[in-house]
Amino acid sequence: MENCIFCRIASGEIPSQTVYEDDYFRAILDLSPASKGHTLILPKKHFKDVTELDETYAAKILPLAAKIGQAMKTKLGCAGFNIVQNNGEAAGQTVMHYHMHIIPRYADGPQMVIWEPKESNPDEQAQIASLLSEALK
Ligand code: 5GP
Ligand code: ZN
Repeated sequence: MENCIFCRIASGEIPSQTVYEDDYFRAILDLSPASKGHTLILPKKHFKDVTELDETYAAKILPLAAKIGQAMKTKLGCAGFNIVQNNGEAAGQTVMHYHMHIIPRYADGPQMVIWEPKESNPDEQAQIASLLSEALK
């Protein structure tokens, strides 16, 4: 994927503020951070989104995210962190190379990663649960 910006950053071809690197991932600071320390974990192999991610990467990325979040708490003094991962343009994905956001959250910091809760309809919920559970059998 020679035209993929995150392939080029992950491989080191394009320099970045790297906070962590191993054989599978490079974790970098986001160029337009939502908060101080906002980090992206990029797999070194190109996957479009989570539906393509292979099992090796999938198994490794969550422990890495936890480790980065813990480092943010101890070294940057955040009170918590969000793990965000967008799949598809409709979900806000702008770079079509799978990545995970680790966003530090500071005490009294601004609201983010929020949605407006709606009321659920029991019949519709039952129908949705049935549709999905059937597909997931
Ligand atoms: P998405 O919206 O696809 O989930 O997130 C893409 C993220 O990548 C955004 O937060 C954006 O600021 C960040 N980003 C886009 N291009 C670059 C870049 O060239 N370098 C870095 N460090 N971050 C980038
Ligand atoms: Zn890529």
